[in-house]
Amino acid sequence: MSNKASCKACSFYEDHAANAGTVAADAGLCRFNPPVSQPDANARGLWPVVTGSDWCGHFDGNNKAA
Ligand code: SF4
Repeated sequence: MSNKASCKACSFYEDHAANAGTVAADAGLCRFNPPVSQPDANARGLWPVVTGSDWCGHFDGNNKAA
């Protein structure tokens, strides 16, 4: 894997954090998996919050917007 892997360069990264709450300035959402941790049937699930410099083993560097 490239040593330049980062969420901000990943196809699955959304560069704004739509989840409620306070997040880091460079936070975004990882869209690789469906939302998680739905608290109850009437609440929505949450997308994992990551920072642009994070990365994981699912990194896909085809994000042309990065
Ligand atoms: S956590 Fe992994 S899949 Fe999600 S945006 Fe970051 S590198 Fe991509």
